[in-house]
Amino acid sequence: MRVRAYIGLGANLGEGRRNLLAAWQRLGRVAGVETVRLSRPYRSAPLGMVSEHWFTNAVGEIETELEAGQLLAMLLQIERQLGRDRRRQGSDRPIDLDLLLYGAEIISRPRLEVPHPQMTKRLFVLEPLKELAPGLVHPRRRLTIAELAARLEIEDPGQRIIPESW
Ligand code: AMP
Repeated sequence: MRVRAYIGLGANLGEGRRNLLAAWQRLGRVAGVETVRLSRPYRSAPLGMVSEHWFTNAVGEIETELEAGQLLAMLLQIERQLGRDRRRQGSDRPIDLDLLLYGAEIISRPRLEVPHPQMTKRLFVLEPLKELAPGLVHPRRRLTIAELAARLEIEDPGQRIIPESW
């Protein structure tokens, strides 16, 4: 079965855009994964953590034949490959890959929660996802990505993101 999935990419150590593109390229080389589109990059202030390093974030759309757990395992492997030789302080990271949506599936396992539980609270996820799929319906909330982004901007106006280009 072929499933459309969305991946959140983030980095706040090293060259953010370069790390995101490196992860995206590696993902495209995984058997059973086809990378379709990548949003533009955005800069965002650290949220829920104390760090002086801003993040670079993007969202990618893929088509995959992998089961969700297999896909997550590949994401974690790419994180390890790109993060291995780098300094890690607290939650600062050269690359972070999240499985945001896997088709319309709702998955609740000890190590895998889909839709990603934090995605509706994060403008740095909703805004790039809106670029790719504004009308996509969040399977738990039953609202579109555009509606979720508009709500969040009212509920949490302090979140700031700055669009950039590759
Ligand atoms: P972090 O690197 O801090 O974002 O945490 C990664 C861990 O969160 C992984 O070990 C996963 O098992 C777990 N996790 C649960 N749901 C997800 C998801 N939808 N996407 C990525 N990681 C997830």
